[in-house]
Amino acid sequence: MTSANQKTYKLDEILGSPCLVISSDKKTRIYGININGRTTKISGYTESESREGYFHKVEIDYLQASMYLLGGNCTCESVQYYGVPCKHMLKIRNVYIKNKDKINKY
Ligand SMILES: [Zn+2]
Repeated sequence: MTSANQKTYKLDEILGSPCLVISSDKKTRIYGININGRTTKISGYTESESREGYFHKVEIDYLQASMYLLGGNCTCESVQYYGVPCKHMLKIRNVYIKNKDKINKY
């Protein structure tokens, strides 16, 4: 069964979105950072491992001080079956941590 939340995006569908950072492997793109107190909301797309060229839309709530993942959303299958966090959320977080200095200049 396909849930309404489950969706993949083709690269050309997401190229129009403003992008803050592209990971060095080009598989993860962060387009939104929203700092709210100690929590940072990070939005991005990361490529599906099983379907090349298709991306999941990912949102995470990230606690800066402890690098803790508070929650989030992803359009992949595993979130529907196993809940959060999925590997895409961890990927977005890791790309953010790696590029934090670059991103915070915006
Ligand atoms: Zn996911």
